[in-house]
Amino acid sequence: MSNRITAARGLNLRCKGWRQESILRMLENNLENGERPDDLIVYAARGKAARNWDCYHTIVNVLKEIKEDETLVIQSGKPVAVFKTHDRAPIVIMANGNLVGRWATPENFYALENKGLTMWGGYTAGDWMYIGSQGIVQGTYEVFASAARERLTDSLKGCLILTGGLGGMGGAQPLAGTMNGGVVLAVEVDPERIKRRIETGYCQVLSTDLDDALKRCLKAKEKGEALSVGLVGNAAVVFPEILRRGIVPEIVTDQTSAHDALYGYIPEGMSLGEADELRKRSPEEMIRRSRQSMAVQVKAMLEFLDKGSIVFEYGNNIRAQAKMAGVDDAFRIPIFVERFMRTMFCKGLGPFRWVAISGDESDIFKIDSIILEEFSANTIVANWIKLAREHVHFQGLPARIGWLSHGERTELGLIVNDRIRKGVIKGPIAFTRDHLDCGGVSQPYRETENMRDGSDAISDWPLLNALLNCSAMADLVAIHGGGAGYAGYYQSAGLIVIADGTSAADKRLELALTADTGIGVVRYADAGYETAIETVRQKKIRAPMI
Ligand code: NAD
Repeated sequence: MSNRITAARGLNLRCKGWRQESILRMLENNLENGERPDDLIVYAARGKAARNWDCYHTIVNVLKEIKEDETLVIQSGKPVAVFKTHDRAPIVIMANGNLVGRWATPENFYALENKGLTMWGGYTAGDWMYIGSQGIVQGTYEVFASAARERLTDSLKGCLILTGGLGGMGGAQPLAGTMNGGVVLAVEVDPERIKRRIETGYCQVLSTDLDDALKRCLKAKEKGEALSVGLVGNAAVVFPEILRRGIVPEIVTDQTSAHDALYGYIPEGMSLGEADELRKRSPEEMIRRSRQSMAVQVKAMLEFLDKGSIVFEYGNNIRAQAKMAGVDDAFRIPIFVERFMRTMFCKGLGPFRWVAISGDESDIFKIDSIILEEFSANTIVANWIKLAREHVHFQGLPARIGWLSHGERTELGLIVNDRIRKGVIKGPIAFTRDHLDCGGVSQPYRETENMRDGSDAISDWPLLNALLNCSAMADLVAIHGGGAGYAGYYQSAGLIVIADGTSAADKRLELALTADTGIGVVRYADAGYETAIETVRQKKIRAPMI
């Protein structure tokens, strides 16, 4: 059974309280913004919101009935039990896509998924925190801005960014590039994906011809004009061809779903239909062909690196895949987190976000104003909010992403809750964040690559994060394991906290938002990063060994 899901709007309750109603709307919003909602797929090739439609409808029914002092338990997208807990416990706890260490391989994952026993939740799909490409657009904007600063300029004016993939997350790249003043050439094999980015205001032009796309891009680059072009093509073909033509983009990266060689990447020379057919007929051959093409693409990326481009992997595991296909030096390409974001994580600065549960856009604009009035010292977020107001269209329930640090998130949560209480903000606000954050994840080829103390693969930290967030009264807490192509590659955790104007929400926001980034800062301080150690001291986090 399948149907088109959209999030409820307005101030009518279907559930027994706003905590439950808000969580239900976050689930619906997840699918409203999803890439393939009919299959419950939200983003990243296979990241799902619920195990199957039966599970989805059961979750909805339970959320409508569940009381304040009960907790729904979800196991990989399946609602397995409801327990009486207490009114300070989470309404929902979940564990998605986790496998025991030695068993955590893509092959085992798919065998178990085929038996209907598990589901991969990505970072924000399985725990209902996905807000469309807008959820990653500030992160991508900051990454591109950091790359500009490496070139000692404030903008990417006159720079060409070459990338691949315009899916759920990758779709943020063209807008993030043009917001930095640059020219983006994004190679995407599926024209429908490009059309969707154009419809939602994330990309400007669709081109089906490389000559035409390059002509437009190089002209805009020369004139110093911002432009984004989605080129219908295969990255494994186009990247080497651009290299052959002697064009050296200032920045090269990729956001195809390369992490999943079976479902996420189309091998060169193959149509979408042919890939579908091969996937069914011979999964092993599909994986081999995909990795072979990724190897070709990564070799081109390495050559761009040697010619002076700023090249980085954008967290899609393409280096690991290429290495398996024989590109021994794939890891000469750095990972974006280590290069551009780690110092921010040391301050607890990361992709915090908030969603207007009523659907009223003015609630988000009011929070924009709070940020500009109260958090102007954080120039990253203040600059971003001004830009976002101008350039970022809402998708689904109105939402905003804003990189706030440890302490700032709590402060914002409490101010917003107070404004809801006073009726200035009309409806509840759900606060959440990406798992890509200081406390949320251990992923040795991404967020925790090359940790100073070598603790890259220690996954105690996100598990502690989740336990702590339950103790700190978050409304939804999730533990995720890498599934699908990411099986064995990471462990992560997420949370949702609802501001509904009550004094109970004050307590939840204060405790959960503080604990969430607090444990993240401690993780980096424990690994020896001076900025994190300083944050621990400045913010008076009680960490007895630091
Ligand atoms: P998605 O599956 O929605 O989109 C991937 C896109 O790549 C699709 O549109 C697909 O048609 C296209 N594609 C596949 N093979 C191609 C090829 N050979 N040439 C050109 N295009 C091709 O995935 P998404 O949500 O956009 O995520 C993309 C990747 O980025 C995933 O690996 C995901 O895990 C990773 N990711 C990174 C971050 C981050 O913070 N950097 C965040 C989320 C996801």
